[in-house]
Amino acid sequence: MSTPSVLFSEEQIQSRVAELGRAIARDYAGRSPVLVTMLKGAVVFLADLFRAIDLPVRVDFMSISSYGADSEASGGVVRILKDLDQDIGGEEVIVVEDIIDTGLTISYLLATLRARQPASLEVCALLDKTARRIVPVEIKYRGFECPDRFVIGYGLDHSERYRNLPVILAVDDQAALTEDPNLLAPFLSARGEVEADRRTSS
Ligand code: 5GP
Repeated sequence: MSTPSVLFSEEQIQSRVAELGRAIARDYAGRSPVLVTMLKGAVVFLADLFRAIDLPVRVDFMSISSYGADSEASGGVVRILKDLDQDIGGEEVIVVEDIIDTGLTISYLLATLRARQPASLEVCALLDKTARRIVPVEIKYRGFECPDRFVIGYGLDHSERYRNLPVILAVDDQAALTEDPNLLAPFLSARGEVEADRRTSS
């Protein structure tokens, strides 16, 4: 199979997340935005991001049925599995997402949140796969442009595994990973990453 490769290293991610945190802190100075975070993929990003914002931010979580690669087939129709705990009417809201792919999921979500009449509504996404966009999405805070490849790690999963990878990997052969779900285990620690790199380069 083609070998998974590190698309974004831990250092690259951490430094970009810190920059995003500073940008949000600057733009919302003196205020207390609500970071609406999509379960489960965005929680790792949120954990680093909100500690990089030196404002009294609030967080809330939402879970919607994910069609993943089938989101196009579903026409972007998604179901709310867990709604927010708080009323966002009149609040400054920033939606925190791991990745925006076709844009169907976030568009649905933004329409749902907008109907609740927040004072403002912006998007902060770690990865932006613009090549696959179907619905235009305005992303105010964007971590990285993401190539049109399947990515795993830093919250993003493959069949619920590998959300705890400190790096983001590009995996072109998903079938091989389905066949051997432990394939990426060497990447789970910083040392493992080095070992995996060594193995792939030899
Ligand atoms: P959408 O196509 O609606 O913009 O994205 C739907 C969801 O598909 C994302 O929130 C994410 O959960 C999932 N997704 C899209 N691209 C990838 C990818 O490359 N890797 C992983 N693990 N999930 C993805």
